[in-house]
Amino acid sequence: MEEEIAANRAQNTKDDMSGGPPAEAENLSGLSVRNIDKRFEDVEAIKNVSLSVHEGKFFTLLGPSGCGKTTLLRIIAGLELPDAGQVILGGQDITSLPATKRQVNTVFQSYALFPHLSIFENVAFGLRSRKVPQNEVESRVNRRLEMLGLEEMATRFPHQLSGGQQQRVALARALVNEPQVLLLDEPMSALDAKLRAQVQVELRRLQRKLGQTFILVTHDQAEALVVSDQIAVMNQAEIVQFGSPKEVYEHPRTCFVAEFLGAANLIEGTKQNDRIETDLGTFQLESSPTWNRGTVAIRPERIQIVPQPPERNGVKATVREAIYRGTNVDLWLEPGPLRTRTAAHRNYEPGEEVWLELPPEGLVILDE
Ligand code: ATP
Repeated sequence: MEEEIAANRAQNTKDDMSGGPPAEAENLSGLSVRNIDKRFEDVEAIKNVSLSVHEGKFFTLLGPSGCGKTTLLRIIAGLELPDAGQVILGGQDITSLPATKRQVNTVFQSYALFPHLSIFENVAFGLRSRKVPQNEVESRVNRRLEMLGLEEMATRFPHQLSGGQQQRVALARALVNEPQVLLLDEPMSALDAKLRAQVQVELRRLQRKLGQTFILVTHDQAEALVVSDQIAVMNQAEIVQFGSPKEVYEHPRTCFVAEFLGAANLIEGTKQNDRIETDLGTFQLESSPTWNRGTVAIRPERIQIVPQPPERNGVKATVREAIYRGTNVDLWLEPGPLRTRTAAHRNYEPGEEVWLELPPEGLVILDE
């Protein structure tokens, strides 16, 4: 069974990652939302959002607080009705289907475990309420507990478990129902940083093993980059960019996406064919911008510190601040302020002069 799902998943990996939401017609087995609108009195929570998630993908809705990602997840779960638009799962319109009838399970931020039930019974709850025979309940629950490393905890109660273990019970409880789609609403936000990093990797591994569709909501860009096949970046009730982690990190289209996905130097300037004239100098770009005046972005790690003035795209800069981060040093420089990142073994002192090179392939032309 798991091999079968994995084979479907392999098939589904071939036809996406194009940078825009995959074409609707191709997504008969996955989940799509079409032209969803949702308003709460005077707040427009979702504005004409469409997206398509292929079966077996790890899909993330990433955006700042209040951008509408939880509302969209709740609409997919059936916990909220949209004002307009449709939710399609496996080719069927489920927009008005009650939450309990959808092949969708949700893991919430709070885990919401039943405190008076053992771990085994917490996981078995959904199966028992559907009157699944006892021997099947036992085998399915035990299989999920084992998969998540919880078999020793079966007779314990939630309060006897750590946060990370409780989080895994919540996952086991959702997965035991074998949903077509698993929705995860910031499920790691209650964990400390170290455990969170560990659970992210576990979650990614589990999703690959099961080949099921996972949809995660998070405001944490690092988390989104680690776990996802595809990321939809949301801002102010709209999806502003869609793509693989590498695409959205390395080729942001707007200042918002560039800055939300990590540190970025944003440099304004005027087009000169395939160059840009800026206050820092004139830089060669990989192609010619479509605008006359606009912005290019460069990630700190793409700026190189070079021993001599480079042949092109050089900037002479002065170190203002050097912040030691263990694995690297972050440098804040004038003019700018430009930010770059270097290996930790080299010491830089405030006031030190350095030459920088901004390679054309690191300079991303933004649309706006
Ligand atoms: P967060 O990360 O803070 O949870 P979010 O991106 O998930 O934010 P939503 O919870 O979807 O955002 O909220 C989107 C907007 O809709 C916000 O302005 C919020 O205040 C509003 N909103 C959400 N639910 C309701 C509701 N039940 N009644 C009124 N307004 C709501």
